[in-house]
Amino acid sequence: MPALYLQPPQTLLPRMLRVKDGLKDGLGRDITYLRVSVTDQCNLACVYCKPRTGTCERTAAPAMSRNEVVQLVKVFTSLGVRKVRLTGGEPLLRRDLETIVAGISPEVEGRVHLTTNGLHLARRARSLRDAGLLGVNVSLDAADRETFERLTTKDGLARVLAGLEAARAVGLKTKLNAVVLRGWNDSQILPLARLAQQDGLQVRFIEFMPYQGNGWGRDQFMPAAEILRVIQDGLGTTLEEEPSVGLEEGPARLFRIPGSRGKVGVISTLSADFCGRCNRVRLTSQGDLNACLFGNRPVSLLQPLRARATHDELVGLIRQSLSEKLDCHPMRHGEAPEPPLGMWQVGG
Ligand code: SAM
Repeated sequence: MPALYLQPPQTLLPRMLRVKDGLKDGLGRDITYLRVSVTDQCNLACVYCKPRTGTCERTAAPAMSRNEVVQLVKVFTSLGVRKVRLTGGEPLLRRDLETIVAGISPEVEGRVHLTTNGLHLARRARSLRDAGLLGVNVSLDAADRETFERLTTKDGLARVLAGLEAARAVGLKTKLNAVVLRGWNDSQILPLARLAQQDGLQVRFIEFMPYQGNGWGRDQFMPAAEILRVIQDGLGTTLEEEPSVGLEEGPARLFRIPGSRGKVGVISTLSADFCGRCNRVRLTSQGDLNACLFGNRPVSLLQPLRARATHDELVGLIRQSLSEKLDCHPMRHGEAPEPPLGMWQVGG
């Protein structure tokens, strides 16, 4: 089959392998993982993500063109970033996502991943795989149709499951992500763990994180330890913890379910953070670099790019921002997150 997307000459090593002087933050942590929000628009309004009081701000068109996304990512790969995740908003709302993937994939030896709500995944899984996508994390917070709709405001469970199936069928690495809110979907922990058990899937449960306007409250917060207890008691088995891997594989503590290929994981951003090992930075949908999920002042890379900044000037801005990367997100210190960006803007 003819190649749909232009690939660089095979003789050239991916940029990240040609890097001598990698990217470190001010505390000496190696930064090797970039998450890029390619749009802040979304076709769901999940209770934990969008402000409950209204819809999120919509920008008319994606702030960054596909060329700008690829150009900025290349600056990071020139500094040793070796894994990229495209997120949003809902990245599948971009029709040019395959072109973006194809532009980035050779730069990171194919380590391009996607986080999606899965609604449009069934018809895009193959083209994304062909463009060079390696894996996809599908957000699925309920295995039950009514709870799914209550959380997301859309009757979309069947479409998400079809998307998941399509992704697996074309050979994409797949994981499920579920944010747990007590009183909203804690009843779904066990059904989702059973899905992992039966279908040999990896399901990761994420602690509900606060940011301005998303209605976070202690009464809704369920810590990872309690989520694990619910799974163990419900499945009637002792989960077997896997040795921890590099954060590029994700921040979850993973557990094998005995007698199954399935795994469950917990991401304990609040109850047991992993900031000491943090290896990631985020590029927002507006082209701003966010050194920490919520804590650091965003630094625009898009404006200088449009003003024809040189590669070295962009590198200087990135290094300066990373020199100020916080030791940990402000929530650990009991402070409210600043600036008040939502996950859909900052690239959750
Ligand atoms: N639309 C895509 C999706 O649904 O996966 C990508 C964007 S979404 C913001 C990325 C991830 O952020 C999802 O896994 C979502 O569950 C997570 N997320 C959003 N708000 C969160 C919150 N308050 N606490 C924890 N995780 C959150």
